[in-house]
Amino acid sequence: FFANTTEAPPIEVFHMNKLYLDSTDPNKVNLTIGAYRTEEGKPWVLPVVREAERRLANDETLNHEYFPVLGFDPFTKAATELVLGVDSVALKEGRAIGVQCLSGTGSLRAGAEFLANVAGLKTVYVSDPTWGNHNLVFKNAGFQSLNKYRYWDTANRQINFEGLVEDLENAPERAVILLHGCAHNPTGMDPTKEQWHKIAEIVKRRNLFTFFDIAYQGFASGDPDADAYAIRYFVDQGLEMLVAQSFAKNFGLYNERVGNLALVVSDSKTLPAIRSQLSLIIRGNWSNPPAHGARIVHLVLTDPELRKQWFDAIRVMSSRIREMRAALRGNLEKLGTPGKWDHITQQIGMFSYTGLNPQQVDNLVKQHKVFLLKDGRISISGLNTKNVEYVAKAIDETVRN
Ligand code: PMP
Repeated sequence: FFANTTEAPPIEVFHMNKLYLDSTDPNKVNLTIGAYRTEEGKPWVLPVVREAERRLANDETLNHEYFPVLGFDPFTKAATELVLGVDSVALKEGRAIGVQCLSGTGSLRAGAEFLANVAGLKTVYVSDPTWGNHNLVFKNAGFQSLNKYRYWDTANRQINFEGLVEDLENAPERAVILLHGCAHNPTGMDPTKEQWHKIAEIVKRRNLFTFFDIAYQGFASGDPDADAYAIRYFVDQGLEMLVAQSFAKNFGLYNERVGNLALVVSDSKTLPAIRSQLSLIIRGNWSNPPAHGARIVHLVLTDPELRKQWFDAIRVMSSRIREMRAALRGNLEKLGTPGKWDHITQQIGMFSYTGLNPQQVDNLVKQHKVFLLKDGRISISGLNTKNVEYVAKAIDETVRN
């Protein structure tokens, strides 16, 4: 049965992570995986998550029965409110719901299947570049036409907004436009408020459909409301949309697979039918979502004291990331490393698109054991006060040669 199976290409980020783990160099630095690390280079369980887990462990009323197919309602309500804002007009008018899915990826997958197989939307545009998994998820969900809109200006290390506008203007009506809600992966560069307004205007006028992917709400700026600006603006413009929310980064719950697919529609009467179709999609995928992480997120978001502690935790993470951006840029500028490095501090969130080319990346990996992705993306959280100077020197040496 399996003799003809050919080897699939490796998943780059896990491949590079393995090369890092296999390296015996004492100076090695891991800038691959998008997972938060402390100043000591360790994974961080948020104290508020530990506290929620203690409370859940002591709650004798909880059991391990199945959750409903569409998930734990109090969780989806809290998650949808987090992204749309409690005062959202869409929530007040009963035009928004949430469905629990397997983290950001599962939310994208269930949403994409719904768009392709129920709504008949089979053309998608993703940013160039984008998170490596977007194409695979949309392709596997049944999308027939996978396209890119320009996003990055390599020469100037900023958003190619003219190219983006032109490509959206030329997208066919009813095309799905995938937008990163905040902290664009891999570039770390988000549109300005004015640019978001322009994108919303085009989407509305050209009858495009928005699918937001928000994997870093609160993690990006430390303020979940600020990070949801674009999504809320689109809702205020009366646009319908899907939003894939991940709680991997902002709660540090990577392996618990906590996600919410939020839907905003123009007519609340369509929601029962939409829910029934999503039930079938999820039933045929994973049937029912896992409970542990959703209970944690629900408890933290709805308990005022725990919610405050969560705000403290996301500020700790986003501040450390900002400090490391400043430190890397500062070290490069101190060394007089050829090129401009201000984009490192203009960017936001987990990643920086450094602008290093594939040969330079290769040199960093081979000569300096600084591990990053081929496209020059680094995960800022792999930096700390002990290794940032080493990384800057490695980049400096690489750029000069
Ligand atoms: N979208 C983007 C842009 C991401 O960066 C990520 C995490 N790497 C995700 C979605 C989803 O990740 P997860 O499935 O772990 O929530």
